[in-house]
Amino acid sequence: MDILRSLRHPEELYNLFRFKMGGCRAVMPNPDQSPMSESLQACYRYLNETSRSFSAVIQSLDGELRNAACIFYLVMRSLDTVEDDMTINLETKILILQNLHTYLYDPEWKFTESKYKDRQVLENFPMISLEFRNLVTVYQEIIVDISHKMGVGLAEFLEKEVESLKDWEQYCHYAGGLVGIALSRLFSASELEDPIVGQDTQLANSMTIFLQKTNIIRDYLEDQLNGQRFWPREVWSKYGKKLSDLAKPENIVPALQCLNELITNALQHVPDVLTYLSRLKSQSIFKFYASSLVMAIATLAACYNNQQVFKGVVKIRKGQAVTLMMNTINIEAVKAAIFQYAEEIRQKIPPGDPSLEETQQTVLSIQNLCVPHGSSGLSNRLSSIYLLYGMILAVFGYQYLSHVWV
Ligand code: MG
Repeated sequence: MDILRSLRHPEELYNLFRFKMGGCRAVMPNPDQSPMSESLQACYRYLNETSRSFSAVIQSLDGELRNAACIFYLVMRSLDTVEDDMTINLETKILILQNLHTYLYDPEWKFTESKYKDRQVLENFPMISLEFRNLVTVYQEIIVDISHKMGVGLAEFLEKEVESLKDWEQYCHYAGGLVGIALSRLFSASELEDPIVGQDTQLANSMTIFLQKTNIIRDYLEDQLNGQRFWPREVWSKYGKKLSDLAKPENIVPALQCLNELITNALQHVPDVLTYLSRLKSQSIFKFYASSLVMAIATLAACYNNQQVFKGVVKIRKGQAVTLMMNTINIEAVKAAIFQYAEEIRQKIPPGDPSLEETQQTVLSIQNLCVPHGSSGLSNRLSSIYLLYGMILAVFGYQYLSHVWV
């Protein structure tokens, strides 16, 4: 299916092929490292099975940091599973969310009553907590501190709605921003990055709030069906009486206007994102962020003024996603991709949209930051050669894949 969707995009097909052939091996444990314990292997298995986009990037990190990021991700996934599982009663949810950081030191604690998709992280929590206790103290402290703050914050929002834009910022801080702050502290603690990366919490926060807002915007329908509401009332109440009204076909015009306003709001984080990225020194960390960030802006471009947000799932093609991940190797490549997606949004701004001016302004200021330098004949020629290569390999790749996967 991924292959069929990318058929009209030969470069994507080529990259998808490369990813399926080589990429999967690259994200597995490094063979020249000491053999992994059974519980650590289990943790990486949970990571692969529960993470949508983070699995590959976490596993491309270096050394000890990779284990810390993996465990951290699984602890966050545990909190999120409790938050999202609507079959758990409110009292139990609040208790777990507020105390999960203490369960990391309890070898026995697990939760077996979840019905939610990623429940395995709760059922097998002893494996995760065991590996957590194997991490060096500095990583343990960061994970405990952040999972404590996140659990308390998520519990707070179980009992209140996201009313104002300020609430929206706050919720996204708990659910996303804290993750960015923790990862940045992990990066600095590992000395892979300068201390400023971990210290500048405002920037790390803003960058991951951007990712969180993107998910919230994209997941309108999924969250509705699950009985969750994360779009801020301050915005949607301008376009409908109830948030669920936006999904009614007769309300599609105000629904799209609401969507476009929220996307414009999210795009305002992009300058922070670029500043954050420009500070990174480690290639694996850079790729970790660059690929998720470019993927997020691609998602926003796909969602902008798109009725599908209210009807089903808006996905960027897997081949496009893999191409994005592979091409975001330096800040210039990231800027070029962001420039292109900003342009896609700019061209889709509908006349008469209430946020028209703000969207145009936001998009233009992003584009000003991303004006391609040195888009000389050479790089154009190189990319044509690359594309030609891609097409040739894609043809061979497709012949091979059609036997194996299609
Ligand atoms: Mg959640």
